[in-house]
Amino acid sequence: MGQLFLNRVQKFFGDFEVLKGVQLEVKNGEFVVFVGPSGCGKSTLLRMIAGLDATSAGDIVIDGVRVNDLPPVKRGIAMVFQSYALYPHMSVFENIAFPLRVENMEEEKLKAKVEHAARILHLDQRLQQKPGMLSGGQRQRVAIGRAIVREPKIFLFDEPLSNLDAALRADMRIELAKLHRQLKATMIYVTHDQVEAMTMADRIVVLNAGEIAQTGAPLELYHKPANIFVASFIGNPK
Ligand code: ADP
Ligand code: MG
Repeated sequence: MGQLFLNRVQKFFGDFEVLKGVQLEVKNGEFVVFVGPSGCGKSTLLRMIAGLDATSAGDIVIDGVRVNDLPPVKRGIAMVFQSYALYPHMSVFENIAFPLRVENMEEEKLKAKVEHAARILHLDQRLQQKPGMLSGGQRQRVAIGRAIVREPKIFLFDEPLSNLDAALRADMRIELAKLHRQLKATMIYVTHDQVEAMTMADRIVVLNAGEIAQTGAPLELYHKPANIFVASFIGNPK
């Protein structure tokens, strides 16, 4: 299971209302893309879902359980960031294994999980190398591997490809789509890139200044934008 319900989620930084009562349901196994201009609150929303930031008001509900007061590790969520801070002195194997070491997982079980993730991500030949030996795309795969081994119900991606060049981004989009089919997990993917949103999403959520401007399937938004903002951002203005 990996069902998410955001009920009137609000966030203030001081007097500044960054998120203005976001209401959204994400189905188990859905690939939902949050898109919107820089500063509209995408990262803040993800951080609140992950438990890295507190909500000011509202409920975050995962599989029917309100998780607002649960720490990140208890939420069944893994987050992949744009700056995929890997440990440079540790091998690819140890970087992927890190969350399992923290849990004191038994060695044989840990090895099986790391090798399974490495196969999915085509890193099986790289496990003994250090991150410095890898390309940008391979490093991002290591960061994704670190999320996969935790077997989360929900994956959160915060602009994971924005440090990669265009060709690599296109490859990684296909890889992530495959990963989604393979793991059947719920994925929430943040980007400010319209192409990524259009090609990857089952459903797009357009955010504008802390509010949902529209949600719908990519072609639905493209052909029937609800307002000028969505039209200018994603649609086909008529
Ligand atoms: P996005 O990811 O869509 O670019 P963010 O969620 O990072 O946007 O930020 C939304 C708004 O909240 C921005 O105006 C940003 O400056 C502000 N903000 C983010 N984090 C903090 C913080 N810790 N303290 C104060 N303001 C913040
Ligand atoms: Mg952001």
